[in-house]
Amino acid sequence: MTPEAERIRIDIREALAAVLPKDWQGSGFLPMDVRPEHMDLARKLDEHLGKKNLLAPAWPEEYGGRGLSPLEQFALYEELGYALAPRMTTISVDLVGPVLILYGSDEQKRRHLPAIANDAMIWCQGFSEPEAGSDLTSLTTRAESKGDVYIVNGHKIWTSMAHWSQWMILVARTGEEGSRGRGLSLFVLPMDSPGIDVRPIYDATGEHMLNEVFFEDVRIPVENLIGNENEGWRYATTLLQYERGDALFIGQFRRLLDDLRERTNSNDTSALIPSEIDLAIGRLLTLRVATMQANDELPDREASEAKLFMSEAYQRFGTTAQHLSGLSGNLTHREPTAPLGGRIVQSVLSSTTATLIAGTSEIQRTVIATRGLGLPRG
Ligand SMILES: Cc1cc2nc3c(=O)[nH]c(=O)nc-3n(C[C@H](O)[C@H](O)[C@H](O)COP(=O)(O)OP(=O)(O)OC[C@H]3O[C@@H](n4cnc5c(N)ncnc54)[C@H](O)[C@@H]3O)c2cc1C
Repeated sequence: MTPEAERIRIDIREALAAVLPKDWQGSGFLPMDVRPEHMDLARKLDEHLGKKNLLAPAWPEEYGGRGLSPLEQFALYEELGYALAPRMTTISVDLVGPVLILYGSDEQKRRHLPAIANDAMIWCQGFSEPEAGSDLTSLTTRAESKGDVYIVNGHKIWTSMAHWSQWMILVARTGEEGSRGRGLSLFVLPMDSPGIDVRPIYDATGEHMLNEVFFEDVRIPVENLIGNENEGWRYATTLLQYERGDALFIGQFRRLLDDLRERTNSNDTSALIPSEIDLAIGRLLTLRVATMQANDELPDREASEAKLFMSEAYQRFGTTAQHLSGLSGNLTHREPTAPLGGRIVQSVLSSTTATLIAGTSEIQRTVIATRGLGLPRG
């Protein structure tokens, strides 16, 4: 870690201390779960970070960021994760911003980037469909070009935070049926457009973070197309690369380890050693991704290795935490006596999604095998 990165830690700790309550136990599984009763706090934190140019820290200053290096950004997100800071703008800041900076029109940049960096505008990501998840290029939601508008019909699923979002980044088919990646386009779309229907999906923790989104003759003005028609897949794959290698995850892993160690009888803490080793390895793998970015190298299989290792390590850790805590570890945050505010069972349940979100473990293994080790496709 560079001295600058260590300085950023102090800045962000001060910013968090000014907003988060002293006994804050988080609002679910980072990066995106925010319980409705915590929305005001999450908004307040976003405003506070926005004022300090810490909401979109890695963006260039001209767009409202702080121009932090990848290692400084790592340090900042590690701190946010450790503090269990609720974050509404994960998709806006980590996915939408980088794509608009690279491929957006001047007008799209002018309109959306400051609104995200300063005013914490919430975005969702309309990519996955019921029949197109890992195999995203088979998606069927259509955007039909009609003069100065596109007319969208289709169905998205697993759309995180769609019910809180003001905007969506949408991938839809503009080419012929069967055109796969060559016929996809990327759009920005206001969520209050007529013809959009958002329906909740409740997850295993009983929370509502996920949604289905239905489109019926939704009109998107042509100026909301990102870049060129039918080139959206190229832009989207850039975007998906930003989804991996997450230091937030490392921070919350460290926090749960520290909290468990404090609560556990000292004779039992040896049970935490495998998780300590997992975290040390996962942190190094994630730091390697940040270091490559800092050296202007494009992480590929390295990002897959970090994501694969950390998501599976967190699942192992969840089970260890549950065993160490005994039956009380199964109490949820709805029980006032739940240890660590219900974070143990929450981690066990929601960590199951970690190996699906942002590319399943099987897909990561394929990337490592083919693009990393040069093995032939099976
Ligand atoms: C918590 C959470 C939040 C999410 N948020 C969003 C969001 O905001 N926006 C969005 O667009 N999507 C979101 N997703 C969807 C996510 O991107 C998909 O779940 C993921 O891409 C997997 O797709 P799928 O669920 O359709 O599973 P499938 O692709 O149907 O996979 C099912 C199983 O088959 C395996 N499999 C599939 N293809 C292969 C292959 N080629 N080789 C080997 N095994 C294979 C998979 O590994 C998996 O085990 C979210 C998912 C979760 C869990």
